[in-house]
Amino acid sequence: MTFKELGIAEPILKALTSEGYENPTPIQEKSIPILLKGKDLLGVAQTGTGKTAAFGIPILHHIYTNNSGIGKRKIKALVVTPTRELAIQIGESFTAYARFTGIKNTVIFGGVKQGKQTDALRQGVEILIATPGRLLDLMNQGFISLRDLEYVVLDEADQMLDMGFIHDVKKIIAKLPAKRQSLFFSATMPKTIVELSQKILGEFEQVTI
Ligand code: AMP
Repeated sequence: MTFKELGIAEPILKALTSEGYENPTPIQEKSIPILLKGKDLLGVAQTGTGKTAAFGIPILHHIYTNNSGIGKRKIKALVVTPTRELAIQIGESFTAYARFTGIKNTVIFGGVKQGKQTDALRQGVEILIATPGRLLDLMNQGFISLRDLEYVVLDEADQMLDMGFIHDVKKIIAKLPAKRQSLFFSATMPKTIVELSQKILGEFEQVTI
């Protein structure tokens, strides 16, 4: 199986080739067709499996092919992840995969002044990658409109639980448009995480790696 056979748009294929990605990893091969159909996904997988491209490629493909969103710079996709390091990594991956599409992303996280982050939000992006606390904070200050949101990814849900973010995550989810595609990733599935996934996902398909 190749990325081309999965039906990914040309500019994204070109970026994947320039990243040196020849074939999809198992999680990508299983998840991309489900996500391209617009279904919700529960992914039980760890970092290092190619998880970022598994959700990043279909999101970029959708935004690119329904390109009414590009140029308007409305947030179409939100990725919530527990740590600053993961957020930065995910942002770099989106930048790489999107380099021939014109789709922009920005990353927000706590522990630093908010000025640069709010400047980037004012310029506008299609994809926002965020840690929960700073996201809620900037949402409450009115810097973030998620009215046009179509995709939400909850990444490393079990780690968010361990770090005490579950309450923030629930508050964030409550503010999202109901009509959206939701993706939920966790390396482990303890009871609290199963319950959280049920709150976030509609009818979903599961991929376990
Ligand atoms: P992740 O699990 O998303 O953190 O990805 C782990 C590493 O695998 C990253 O360095 C990616 O750039 C790389 N990677 C992801 N997908 C592929 C692929 N299809 N082919 C080669 N490398 C990949």
